[in-house]
Amino acid sequence: MSAAILVLNCGSSSLKYRLFETPSEALLAEGIIERIGEPAPHHRHLRYRGAEVMSRMERDVVAPTHREAFAHMRAALDGAVHDLVAIGHRVVHGGERFHQAVRIDTKVERDIEALAVLAPLHNPANLLGIRLAAESWPGLPQVAAFDTAFHHSLPPLAHRYAVPEAWYHLYQVRRYGFHGLSHEYVAQRAAAHLDRPLAALNLITLHLGNGASACAIRGGRSVDTSMGFTPLEGLVMGTRSGDLDPALPLHMERVTGMGWHALDHVLNHECGLKGMTGLNDMREILARVAAGDEAARLALEVYAYRVRKYIGAYFAVLGRVDAVVFTAGVGENAAPVRAAACAGLQGLGIVLDEAANARATGEVAAIGRPDAPVALLVIRTNEELHIARQVRALLGAD
Ligand code: ADP
Repeated sequence: MSAAILVLNCGSSSLKYRLFETPSEALLAEGIIERIGEPAPHHRHLRYRGAEVMSRMERDVVAPTHREAFAHMRAALDGAVHDLVAIGHRVVHGGERFHQAVRIDTKVERDIEALAVLAPLHNPANLLGIRLAAESWPGLPQVAAFDTAFHHSLPPLAHRYAVPEAWYHLYQVRRYGFHGLSHEYVAQRAAAHLDRPLAALNLITLHLGNGASACAIRGGRSVDTSMGFTPLEGLVMGTRSGDLDPALPLHMERVTGMGWHALDHVLNHECGLKGMTGLNDMREILARVAAGDEAARLALEVYAYRVRKYIGAYFAVLGRVDAVVFTAGVGENAAPVRAAACAGLQGLGIVLDEAANARATGEVAAIGRPDAPVALLVIRTNEELHIARQVRALLGAD
């Protein structure tokens, strides 16, 4: 029987899981239960042998709460031959308290709960996942890995806002950054690919998924990142605005009478690509661009221009850049977005190889001209594997 680590990402209405064999890191099974507590919850579960899908299960399930969702996950996992040795949880907000993954005990649970003031949607769901996992597998070691932790190394000049100092001390107002698990994972992957120690590299990593963020990494440490106090800051995203004039919501409140809840919803769920085109999926935007749609073309330009500005800004932050890394759904798959983001940056040593960009696939692909000073890489992210590695490192869980 193989030893395995289960990685959970428990959201407000979904439960995602991956089961890794350890220490081989082979993926044994993965699944998602969506629409928990909503109409028509759905469960998808895949089992693997080697790189092959051995079996696939997909069905609507009864899951009015996360408790039923856990039961479905357990039932599906019981089919996999493994000896579960530990569970790793993705926890969104670790505040200033958590600088790295930690073994969960009651004190850690309380701290995650207290940090819900900073992540009111995510941390309570993450905590629920922790408690249900403890119920399902009593006594099994559990580890929390935080999406903010990698950015704990941001120096004050990068993490402080120019707002009254008391906001920081009384209300924890500062830039935290997110997607840290992904930025750190692809940074390590980039170093391995370049065959150079991470400690010697300066990197700009671009996580372009539904949410999107950029990160400046010096010697393996995050020194700046585009998301801030919340994930709203920075790049244009599927449904989030990213950077805007902070007076804009005040103005919209004044002229429309919209309240804060409505504004919060619009800025997070009705802006970005969706706000500009009605569509939040980059595949559809690119199809519309190809069909000559003007709004889609403009949205793509605005999206790529923002990425380009952050690449330029992080060049200034780092002084020297060894590689720019594209990752997540858009970064891994959308060659036209990568091309537009790199356009005109030859002066910085960023020169795309059009053919390599168009055919990039697999875990790691190089898309820059080999003679250019800055390597351009497309790297498939794997936050769950990164969590499993942190669990293993922390527990020696083999
Ligand atoms: P999340 O941030 O939720 O983890 P992903 O990293 O999976 O999301 O990114 C999802 C987004 O990636 C989709 O909304 C879509 O816009 C984009 N995407 C996925 N595949 C492609 C593709 N082949 N071409 C362009 N965009 C893609």
